[in-house]
Amino acid sequence: MITIEKVSKWYNPQFQVLKNCTTAVEKGEVVVVCGPSGSGKSTLIKTVNALEPVQAGTIMVDGLNVTTMKKDLPKLRSRVGMVFQHFELFPHLKIVENLCLGQTIVLGRSEDAAKAKAMKMLERVGLTAHAQKYPGQLSGGQQQRVAIARALVMDPICMLFDEPTSALDPEMINEVLDVMVELAKEGMTMMVVTHEMGFAKKVANRVIFMDAGEIVEDAQKEDFFGHPRSDRAQQFLSKIL
Ligand code: ADP
Ligand code: MG
Repeated sequence: MITIEKVSKWYNPQFQVLKNCTTAVEKGEVVVVCGPSGSGKSTLIKTVNALEPVQAGTIMVDGLNVTTMKKDLPKLRSRVGMVFQHFELFPHLKIVENLCLGQTIVLGRSEDAAKAKAMKMLERVGLTAHAQKYPGQLSGGQQQRVAIARALVMDPICMLFDEPTSALDPEMINEVLDVMVELAKEGMTMMVVTHEMGFAKKVANRVIFMDAGEIVEDAQKEDFFGHPRSDRAQQFLSKIL
């Protein structure tokens, strides 16, 4: 579903943020990306839907070359769901309107069809009663579930998550992780940047560990947690587990 091959990126000539990164995510696979702050996790995940350009290497999503794509980018982005740390909902739009916008503008769905789909996905994340509210009236956990629903209404072929629970109060983390666990169980292809190792142990197939712009480990979950090969991953795990 996603292949990342020999990808390098510089933010400026002196600073290489991604160093020859290669990995792949199969259809239905859940891959957790972890590593120290500043190691390039957000940058890597953003390259998958071309939110960040790369200077070398190739990224393919569902057989399409993202690195060279131009006019089809909005369509591709609509099919690659992305959930950020800070929700990024439109504050001046009601929840249901937040969920309809992309459907009508990018996918050309009618208002009625978009609304029906929006309500279906709100039900799925347990927020039907909040459809007519504004984002500011919801808790952080609820807003993040809205953000997930907003990605799902677009019928994504895969989902990217960038630290979806890091901005949440502890008591709200599980309500968001529960939705993600359900998605994973239903076979959604997912690439998830997170430090929630409980989530990784429960649903990940593979774990990627990054440090200083490099993919240092790319291992089956059992191998990663059982016996990480690199010192850097061992140190990282000893700090967060
Ligand atoms: P992580 O998500 O693992 O914390 P990031 O991908 O956000 O890492 O950042 C990796 C490095 O790139 C950091 O040193 C960060 O300061 C730098 N960086 C991120 N975004 C930009 C940008 N737009 N311009 C310049 N440097 C950036
Ligand atoms: Mg980040």
